Amino acid sequence: MIRAEYIWVDGSQPTAKLRSKTKIVESAELADLPIWGFDGSSTNQAPGDQSDCVLRPVFVCPDPIRGGDDVLVMCDVLLADMSPHPTNTRDACAAAAEKYASLEFIFGIEQEYTFFKGSRPLGFPSEGFAAPQGGYYCGVGADEVFGREVVEDHLEACLDAELLISGINAEVMPGQWEFQVGPLPALEVSDQLWIARWLLYRIGEEHEISATLYPKPARGDWNGAGAHTNFSTSAMRSSYQPNIDAAEALGTRHDLHIANYGFGIEERLTGRHETASYKEFKYGVSDRGASIRIPWQVEREGKGYIEDRRPNANMEPYTVTRLIMETVGDAAMAQQ
Ligand code: ADP
Ligand code: MN
Ligand code: MN
Ligand code: MN
Repeated sequence: MIRAEYIWVDGSQPTAKLRSKTKIVESAELADLPIWGFDGSSTNQAPGDQSDCVLRPVFVCPDPIRGGDDVLVMCDVLLADMSPHPTNTRDACAAAAEKYASLEFIFGIEQEYTFFKGSRPLGFPSEGFAAPQGGYYCGVGADEVFGREVVEDHLEACLDAELLISGINAEVMPGQWEFQVGPLPALEVSDQLWIARWLLYRIGEEHEISATLYPKPARGDWNGAGAHTNFSTSAMRSSYQPNIDAAEALGTRHDLHIANYGFGIEERLTGRHETASYKEFKYGVSDRGASIRIPWQVEREGKGYIEDRRPNANMEPYTVTRLIMETVGDAAMAQQ
């Protein structure tokens, strides 16, 4: 018998949360995993008198915590008539992935997060403030680094789960870290990001440390937490101009993207702390104060990818990747 942890995104407002529960199954093949149900009235996904919601398995990977043949199963949520639930953002992402398939989008997402112990970021003294920012980013040493044992456990779990993690690093604020997922197509990178987030929370339990995706976890002179979303099309990977065209296209729908890049984005995109203000749009080579950064090696090699620096740490990846595909894809198709 196999323990399958069915994981899904709930209806919490303003930011959805992860839920999961265990089903005992005979086969862990995606095609064999049965649909299942849950009480939507307890997850802000249904009124109490019509509480049944449906879980549909969409992605399966080894469960690095239970081990053996056990699996983690990412699901999307359907209504009882098998149509997408209003909180199901994956379905629209799947439609966009199909519509723009010929452009061959891939995404690499940098997930920043902040550990909390009780009500304070890990590494902040219980009274007063930690030493100012400067030494923490990619730091080493007990006075600079907080939570590394959790980070290492999480990385190992993600690799054991066969997720495509491309790296990790300590961030600018104490207790703040990052992992990167991808590059992968929109649905895959988003499924894997949600699983990697679930593993982060789950491993935090073992250490009695909570990981949070708050976009501005500490007021004052402290960096916020983002989810820079790097992306390319096959045209961007083979010549330079399509990278500029993609950045220009994103400028035409700036407000739509900002409105969908995570709750509290105005607090994070202030124009300080390596951000551009949410009120303006600008792109530039190597510019960490821009909305969109063109990495220096992309300019030098004359091809590659660009980085959308606007998404918050608490962004919803099916929505962010869908919007990028639509905005950049519509402009590219209009040119053809
Ligand atoms: P930063 O310098 O902004 O900290 P990172 O190294 O943290 O950058 O993240 C860069 C991300 O870009 C990684 O997730 C990587 O997989 C992704 N990436 C690299 N090449 C491409 C590409 N051609 N298309 C999309 N994403 C890419
Ligand atoms: Mn990074
Ligand atoms: Mn970062
Ligand atoms: Mn970045």
